[in-house]
Amino acid sequence: MNDILKLDIAGLKAKLEKKEVSSVEVTKACLQQIEATKDLHAYITVTADEAIAAARAYDGGKTSGALAGIPIAVKDNILTAAIRTTCASKMLSDFVPPYDAHVVEKLKRAGAVIVGKTNMDEFAMGSASANSYFGAVKNPVDVAHVPGGSSGGSAAAVAADTCFAALGSDTGGSIRQPASFCGVVGYKPTYSLVSRYGLVAFASSLDQIGPVTKTVADAGLLFDVIAGHDGRDSTSFAGQYPVMQNLDGSLKGKRIGVAKQFFTDDLHPEIRAAIEAQLRAAERAGATLVDVSIDSFSAALACYYILSSAEAATNLARYDGVKYGFRAKAGDYTDYIDLYVKTRTQGFGDEVKRRIMIGNYVLSSGYYDAYYLKALKVRTLIKRDFDAALSLCDALVCPTAPTTAPKAGQNSSPAEVYLSDAYTVPVNIAGLPGISVNCGRDKTGLPIGLQLIGKAYDDRALLGLAAGFEALGGAK
Ligand code: GLN
Repeated sequence: MNDILKLDIAGLKAKLEKKEVSSVEVTKACLQQIEATKDLHAYITVTADEAIAAARAYDGGKTSGALAGIPIAVKDNILTAAIRTTCASKMLSDFVPPYDAHVVEKLKRAGAVIVGKTNMDEFAMGSASANSYFGAVKNPVDVAHVPGGSSGGSAAAVAADTCFAALGSDTGGSIRQPASFCGVVGYKPTYSLVSRYGLVAFASSLDQIGPVTKTVADAGLLFDVIAGHDGRDSTSFAGQYPVMQNLDGSLKGKRIGVAKQFFTDDLHPEIRAAIEAQLRAAERAGATLVDVSIDSFSAALACYYILSSAEAATNLARYDGVKYGFRAKAGDYTDYIDLYVKTRTQGFGDEVKRRIMIGNYVLSSGYYDAYYLKALKVRTLIKRDFDAALSLCDALVCPTAPTTAPKAGQNSSPAEVYLSDAYTVPVNIAGLPGISVNCGRDKTGLPIGLQLIGKAYDDRALLGLAAGFEALGGAK
């Protein structure tokens, strides 16, 4: 592998600017590395020709911007004009969008070289990137293990040095948990700071696009490119946006909140030890630990699976075989109802069907009050608990996931799989920013992620603290 691929964005930018390397050379090295690691299934579509053309444009002085000439990958639920966008589903396996997502427009305007579309769990539903019509993604750290999900392709692509950063989407942890499993950085911004225009909707009140990178500084750099008001997303924030340049990486005088509820019985002892060691290191670096309480923490998982499934059932109603996407074979159906049924039966995978069924169940008359409405109320309680806790500190620290990456092919029940989201879903429910940074490895060598949760809209402070934790190095 070409050593240049080991650099972070900042390092590569310096070399490109000094013309020590050309963007075409770097892009070719990325494409070779994608080919060399294709058994990871990190990509669904590799956009080699478009990437080389964008790299040439940079080398010819035709593009400039914060990401000019830098190879970046994009999760395959983010629309790319004229490049198929599948959501890892049979339903959209041939879908070619007529327009770019807001974030893709922004990447292009910043001069980025898009090398491909990354693999994922179908419609972003899953925690292992195994629910993909295009084959399960493998973890580059140890291919016998899953890379996490649903942005497992993005995390694997970055960890395998096939690109310098990737975009993911995070509805309940899908950026942070795979980043933690693959040993890279995953950042979910405050809800509303990155436009969802052109992100295929899973659960609209929770979905947020964000970066997967090698360093916290790179996550900030990518955020600065993709964030900003967009009138095409009705929830897009219209106020002052944080700017992530020159982050304050000092932990001195910072108050770190730790909730006793974070240390559950499901938390693996090695992860508990790694987080605790890192908290002690933060104290030595001048931070103060503050005891806080999130009483509603244990209710978050149920709340999330009710709300996200309800929204998913509604959002996925549009895949009916009529306007776009997969359609059951002519002659296989008798009337239009039969067309819908056969199209959806054949076009969706098991997990997606499960979510649609859960969602329609909790929204149906008789169960709406008992589940959906109650979950909305619990959501308010969770938000209040987080706001109260965050009023006592600068950020909360907890594990990103209760375990390191599980072995691939384990026959876990859906409920067991859902448990792996316990630490990430509350952050989406409360609309807060969260970031996962590496904090060492377990005794088998698998990465452990530490999650920081910040105050809404104060993403700059959060990334500063994350840079401070990153600088502590792994807890060994
Ligand atoms: N694992 C969670 C789920 O399956 C989160 C998914 C996501 O954030 N997109 O719903």
